[in-house]
Amino acid sequence: PLNSAVRTRFAPSPTGFLHIGGARTALFSYAYARHHGGKFVLRIEDTDLERSTPESVKAIFDAMVWLDLDYDEGPFYQMQRMDRYKVVLASMLEAGTAYKCYCSKEELETMRAEQEARGEKPRYDRRWRPEPGKVLPEPPVGVDPVIRFRTPLTGVVGWDDMVKGRIEFSNEELDDLIIARPDGTPTYNFCVVVDDWDMGITQVIRGDDHVNNTPRQINILLALNAPLPQYGHVPMILREDGQKMSKRYDAVSVMQYEEMGILPEALLNYLARLGWGHGDDELFTREQFVEWFDTRNVSGSPSRFDLGKLKWVNAHY
Ligand code: GLU
Repeated sequence: PLNSAVRTRFAPSPTGFLHIGGARTALFSYAYARHHGGKFVLRIEDTDLERSTPESVKAIFDAMVWLDLDYDEGPFYQMQRMDRYKVVLASMLEAGTAYKCYCSKEELETMRAEQEARGEKPRYDRRWRPEPGKVLPEPPVGVDPVIRFRTPLTGVVGWDDMVKGRIEFSNEELDDLIIARPDGTPTYNFCVVVDDWDMGITQVIRGDDHVNNTPRQINILLALNAPLPQYGHVPMILREDGQKMSKRYDAVSVMQYEEMGILPEALLNYLARLGWGHGDDELFTREQFVEWFDTRNVSGSPSRFDLGKLKWVNAHY
């Protein structure tokens, strides 16, 4: 069904080449947007200054061009959005949905050691969290605070995952997350939340290594009175023997397949088929994939990469 309000995104971190798992989630986001006649947005998550490189940004673009995964908006760069994040941080401090915490590393380590000694799960004890009638410590001089999110103390945060079905976390399991560092720079989960909100993303389709981030991101969106997107978490791709793929022994970069003589359409066809079912059809065009794609047919468990099968698909193109 056409729904032009649909907006999906692909949000790679430019810390290396585009790997096939990333290409598959990009393909699913792209297909979801195209299927609904919506928009597909590209966002470069380059806030990890130590690991992000311009070469990786270029490698991601090259792979997307080779696969012809065209996007409608972006690329947006998180490093260019710092002023916006700071405005939202300030508004949260103002609204009381976030607070400053002056705990030093040493204090946090002591807290942790004491909790572990008592057999408790280590967590921030919320000593700087303002509460009615609570007397807060005096802010130490010359210490720059972090900003923490005021996580609800009770209740459940959950969502109907487009791939995995209902997922729930208890708020008691979630810490008061650090959303800005002592130097004022926002942390990863916070940037993602503000971006998905500002970019009007309606479906977040990403790797299932982010499942633990999602309850935190939902809580922040709720605190901002922002609309919640739907979430779909796609499982990872494993080696044929069920082991994790490694850079050293497996072709994990999309462009390595070009070097092997694999056609981009064959790789897309193979990645589309991997962990997604459409009857017995093995070969289909991009148009057919877009027409048939439905996240409900994406498998919730990891898929195994079969190079022989990919070569078979390639030979039939
Ligand atoms: N930048 C993240 C990654 O490369 C993706 C974040 C997201 O899709 O929300 O794993």
